[in-house]
Order: sequence, then structure tokens, then C-alpha cells
Amino acid sequence: MNDITLALPDEAATLALGERLAQALQPGMAIWLRGDLGAGKTTLVRGVLRGMGYAGKVKSPTYTLVEPYAVSGLYLYHFDLYRFNDPEEWDASGFREHFNPTSLCFVEWPEKAEELMPKPDLEICLALQGAGRSVKISAKSAQGKACLEHL
Ligand code: ADP
Ligand code: MG
Repeated sequence: MNDITLALPDEAATLALGERLAQALQPGMAIWLRGDLGAGKTTLVRGVLRGMGYAGKVKSPTYTLVEPYAVSGLYLYHFDLYRFNDPEEWDASGFREHFNPTSLCFVEWPEKAEELMPKPDLEICLALQGAGRSVKISAKSAQGKACLEHL
């Protein structure tokens, strides 16, 4: 099984998927989040953080580019590269250091610097579907595949 597609009829469903993902993810993983503005990428990360026991506010990193969280014995980095004008900004940012065995990295708009970034373990594509959303989760590594089987 390399991918799964699910319907997410409302925001609560996106949050619930994030909470389930939180139980299946392993430290060191990188997850790409694809989909238009408003597709639910940030909402999904909010669900993951909730699932890890984080009770604080989860802001969109649109302006800060990255929001770090120390939670559940690891670091979760939530990136939003929407404002990158050039892939070279990836190297200049030093963000590569955040990809390590004790962190979990979620990246919105990975296509802004894809060729310079490490490879992801999972790719999650969100799209509008009526009033709700559809989501396709694809495994891109052995670890990603194990995670999908756990979901
Ligand atoms: P993105 O980060 O992709 O730009 P957001 O996570 O900020 O998108 O979500 C945009 C809006 O979509 C929010 O108002 C959120 O409540 C809503 N939303 C998230 N998931 C769903 C869903 N499954 N059905 C309907 N609305 C949703
Ligand atoms: Mg967002």
C-alpha cells in the first residue's frame, strides 16, 4: 500500500486525521503538505500537535516561515515556504539543520524549494471537495510506508 485517499467532510475530520497521524509518525520523518491556499494544510498540523498533547495555539507560519514546537519528547517544525521567491532561500535559511533524527518536519509549499530539500517520507495532498476536503497520503520511503500501514 503506497497511498490512501480519504474524504474529510469538515474541519473536525481534518483535525481527527492529524491526531491519528500523530500516533503513526516516527521522529526523523519529513512530511510535505500540498494543496491550494485554504486547503487545510495548517489545520492538519494543528491536529497532529493536538494528538501529541500540545494544548497551545498553533499559528500559521506564513510570515515567520517556520514555527517550532517542543512536544512529546521531540521537536516538531512547521514550515510554510509560500513566501520564498527563489529556491536558493532554502540554503540561506539554514532550515536544513532542522531535519534530523529527533525532529518531525511538516512543510507547506515544498514546491518552492523542492530540489534543494531532503526527500520526504510522506506527501499529503489536500483538495477542496464540495464544502469539505479530500486528502491523498502517499508513502515516499520505507518509513513512510510503515506509517501508512499504521494509520
Ligand atoms: P491552508 O494551510 O492549506 O492554507 P488552513 O488549514 O488554514 O489551510 O484552512 C483553511 C480553512 O479550511 C480553515 O478555515 C479550516 O477551518 C478549513 N478546513 C480545514 N479542513 C476542512 C474540511 N475538511 N472541510 C471544510 N473546511 C475545512
Ligand atoms: Mg497554511
